[in-house]
Amino acid sequence: MRFIGWLTEELGFKRHTGYLHRYLNETNIRTAVYMSFIVQILELWMIIRYVLKRPGLSFSEYFDGETNYLIFFCSALILFVFSVRYIGYYKSRTFGRILAMAVLILDLVMIIRKLYVNAAGMPASSLIWGIKYHIILFAMALMYHIYELKFSKMDSRYDIYGQAMNVLFAVICLGFGIETSIYDVSRGRQILCFVTMIVFAACLLIWRPYVSVLILGVSFLYFYWLWYPSLNELDQAMGGKVLEGDRINYFIFWIVIVMLSISIYQQRRQEAAKDESLIEANKTLERVAVEDDLTGIHNMLWFNNETEKLLRDPGTDITGKVFLFLNVENFKTYNDQFGYQAGNEYLTALALLICDVFPDDPVARQSDDHFVVFTDAGKAEEKTEIIRRLVKGDESEVYLEFKAGAYRPPSRDTDPRIATDCARYACSLIKNKFNNNYMEYNEEVDRGFHKRQYIVNHIDRAVNEDYIKVYYQPVVWSDSRELCGCEALARWVDPTYGFLSPGEFIPVLEEYRQIHKLDACVFEQVCRDMRACMDEGRTVVPVSLNFSRLDFELMDAVGLLEGLIEKYDIPKDYLHVEITESALTENLGVLEEAMQKLREDGFTIWLDDFGSGYSSFNVLKDYDFDVVKIDMKFLTNFGSNSKSPVILDAIIKLADHIGMLSLTEGVESEETAEFLSRSGCGRLQGYLFGRPMPLEELEDRIDDGTYKLSKKTQIL
Ligand code: C2E
Ligand code: CA
Ligand code: CA
Repeated sequence: MRFIGWLTEELGFKRHTGYLHRYLNETNIRTAVYMSFIVQILELWMIIRYVLKRPGLSFSEYFDGETNYLIFFCSALILFVFSVRYIGYYKSRTFGRILAMAVLILDLVMIIRKLYVNAAGMPASSLIWGIKYHIILFAMALMYHIYELKFSKMDSRYDIYGQAMNVLFAVICLGFGIETSIYDVSRGRQILCFVTMIVFAACLLIWRPYVSVLILGVSFLYFYWLWYPSLNELDQAMGGKVLEGDRINYFIFWIVIVMLSISIYQQRRQEAAKDESLIEANKTLERVAVEDDLTGIHNMLWFNNETEKLLRDPGTDITGKVFLFLNVENFKTYNDQFGYQAGNEYLTALALLICDVFPDDPVARQSDDHFVVFTDAGKAEEKTEIIRRLVKGDESEVYLEFKAGAYRPPSRDTDPRIATDCARYACSLIKNKFNNNYMEYNEEVDRGFHKRQYIVNHIDRAVNEDYIKVYYQPVVWSDSRELCGCEALARWVDPTYGFLSPGEFIPVLEEYRQIHKLDACVFEQVCRDMRACMDEGRTVVPVSLNFSRLDFELMDAVGLLEGLIEKYDIPKDYLHVEITESALTENLGVLEEAMQKLREDGFTIWLDDFGSGYSSFNVLKDYDFDVVKIDMKFLTNFGSNSKSPVILDAIIKLADHIGMLSLTEGVESEETAEFLSRSGCGRLQGYLFGRPMPLEELEDRIDDGTYKLSKKTQIL
């Protein structure tokens, strides 16, 4: 069974793939170009030789004598022009049609003449046999004419034409080869003409080995049958040795030719397969380059190219277009709740939904749960509302929100990257804003956007030219209200924009991964301030430093801190590391390592903003902190919400149970301060005790007795 499978494959019985089919077909037709060209030259030469050798004949005598050469020449010419046209080397179809018509007429003339001249006394079968090459030539010319009339555009469906032409031409070649050689043999000469034509035909019939094996086999048999009488005669004259030898030679020759045609086929098939896999690989690469790997829709590379083309196209009315930035809010919670896999499936479904709602517009996934669209401004809001309703209708236990920012490109040379960035910025402005789901980029937004760009572009200058100031906010013991420490908070005093608060620059610097520059600057200033105070002989309180999660990724934060305490000679327990709860939810590898290192080094670590996120209690369970800073959101409606005190009390007790100290932030009223003190919260921080202030102000207040320095041990 296997052998039969192999044989059918080797002989070309198996169906080719589309690519292999076209490849073989084309190489075969390319071969036909050269082969038919050679035949034309040869035949022209034969015709000239014939005329030169027989001077003084009449035209009809020349004509009759040269009909075979003419047929051969004409068929080669037809095949030549057909192949050249098929491959596309020559574009005009007129020449081909005229040629085909001329050959048809010439062939008819030759047929009529042959029948007319030789008709007398000949049986019909011999007559038909006598014009067999005329018939083939006629078929070739007719086929070519039809080809030019109907299908001059190249299409794989017409491959059959190419192969049929090659077969017909090969049959003519073989026929003449056999006839000429038999004529030669009968005069005791060689079979070279047959040999040449066999090789010739083998080259033209490569695309299906079984076809060439069949045609070559029949030709060999036919030749042998015609040759046999003279071989036999010769054999008898030579005493019986010749026939045996020649038969073997002949058989071996046949095998060689058949093997040759099969092996050329094999070679081409392998080349084609290699080519095909290369082409496939290229296609895959091309696709991957413009495809988003998670959702399968387009990626930003494609989107930017596509929208750039649309913007530049004079046919696009850009005044009616917007770039949309779409964002699913709170998607992280979805991931936390249902797992990463479900999150991915959700995003994929959402991507397809967006494509459905904007079927004719470029849509792409930018990153995470962010998508971009370039669409008509008129329907943009309405369409995003449709998606929003589906997103919200879909929600099960997780509260998801869907927001869109829009940016109208002001000119044709708008950079799509900047346009999507602006749309994204507009979208960021309505983050967590209830009942505000669509924001268009306007002048006011533009000012904010430029401020943002300014911040990103000027952080280095701000650090180098001392725009960054450190403010200190007092932290007091809840029982004595004595100062037990400070929190260092950054301020940016800018020559252009004036006073910038952290709310303006911290998120931007985090987004653009520049936050470590600011933090390194703040840490150094704090240490420098401390050293100066110590040198002045002042009593120093511990200062807590805010670390961004990115600090541990973007710089060697631990190394930096170690270097600073050594440089300024500061006791380790005078610096506390504040890490926000939200930092502990993703990409923990680096952070965990850093926390471990800090602990080994002897620093204390405080958990900032406890209760502001979603995974609070897990964080308490999984990590060791010295102090828990309870987020000020618990105090926002302390008086009105009866649950708030209960929850606060519970958290403080819980912290105590698991061996952590607690601090409550945002204390603004005496009432809350007293409550917290009663509940056992050790430290308090808030406007009640003081806003963040410059070092000089803090020193003045200590000096004037507003803050009393605690006698308690400073540790923790
Ligand atoms: P945070 O770490 O939670 O800092 C406390 C914030 O609450 C400070 O805002 C402070 O001024 C404010 N605050 C303190 N007491 C009260 C109060 O009684 N009522 C009210 N309403 N607010 C109070 P600020 O200074 O604007 O800082 C905001 C946030 O910016 C900080 O929140 C911190 O996350 C971040 N941040 C500030 N400085 C830095 C820094 O140097 N590095 C890093 N990475 N982040 C910083
Ligand atoms: Ca803090
Ligand atoms: Ca905080």
